[in-house]
Amino acid sequence: MTSLSGITPSGRLTLGNHLGALRRFTDPDGFYFVANLHAMTTKHDPRRLVSLTREMATLMLAAGLPPGTVFVQSDVPAHAQLAYLLECTSYVGELSRMIQYKEKGRGRPMTRASLFTYPCLMAADILLYGTDLVPVGGDQDQHVELARDVAIRFNREYGETFVVPQLQKAALAMRIKDLANPTAKMSKSDVDDAVGTIRLLDPPDVIRRQIMRAVTDSDGEVRHDEQAKPGVTNLLEILASCTDGDPVELATAYSTYGALKTDVADAVLAVIEPLQKEYARLASDPGGVDAMLAAGRDRAIEASRPRLQAAARAMGLAGSL
Ligand code: ATP
Ligand code: MG
Repeated sequence: MTSLSGITPSGRLTLGNHLGALRRFTDPDGFYFVANLHAMTTKHDPRRLVSLTREMATLMLAAGLPPGTVFVQSDVPAHAQLAYLLECTSYVGELSRMIQYKEKGRGRPMTRASLFTYPCLMAADILLYGTDLVPVGGDQDQHVELARDVAIRFNREYGETFVVPQLQKAALAMRIKDLANPTAKMSKSDVDDAVGTIRLLDPPDVIRRQIMRAVTDSDGEVRHDEQAKPGVTNLLEILASCTDGDPVELATAYSTYGALKTDVADAVLAVIEPLQKEYARLASDPGGVDAMLAAGRDRAIEASRPRLQAAARAMGLAGSL
């Protein structure tokens, strides 16, 4: 099983991204990429995209992802090339049903065409590497379904070319919530200075302060109860995730919110500080980072070439892409 995952540089990485994604990207045969092509479907600032892409790639390396697995999506032209072939395999009807497009684009003339077609790019991301299992958070289910439908249709119309991926539902179910608004997910695209969003590269004292100010409730009891006590439950989930503990059991050790918050802050910083140190070390050697990303790029180009070529030939493109 090949593991594959892309993260869109739509903002600076959060604690949620680390605990829910980066930390689990451990497959030495995996493909982990900064999905910068996906960050252009809505209005974007090119200079910010450059810096977010570099920061994210460096953080992925700093998080200890296996060497050679990390690359930048746009460095591997096969993604955009296959995406076009898949646009020629998909229907307007199925793309119109995509939730993102329905919510952010439909009926608005100034919507970028790429917001409509990007599920084909995502299908390309998946299908290029012969990935059979795609672990996703629930918000991505629909996209993986589309990748499946497109792969099945392509194989039927042009001959067996792609592995049809399976959906691994709820594989990434754990969700860290916003500290200031614990019924909402913590997201990297939240505004830059959102008080409830912990950024992996924020100064440790800022992170500690954010945790100490996390919204709780007024009944004073430390208990795991997502409905009645979302704030306290989120803190317990974070603590459990950082210490490999059980959130329900951990609750019994605390009688005050203050003590819980102090331990959460210590546990989060114990995870984040080594990451920041490694990030600083890597960032001070840009040539070294370039070399690691080039290795990831070359491996991804090699691995994706056969499927891209096969798809192009099957569709009637002579020569090679
Ligand atoms: P955006 O606001 O751009 O959607 P995001 O923070 O939700 O940003 P994604 O790019 O959607 O990040 O997802 C990247 C990875 O991080 C995915 O594997 C996703 O499951 C994981 N992830 C995102 N947010 C959280 C969270 N709050 N808790 C746990 N995992 C998360
Ligand atoms: Mg998201």
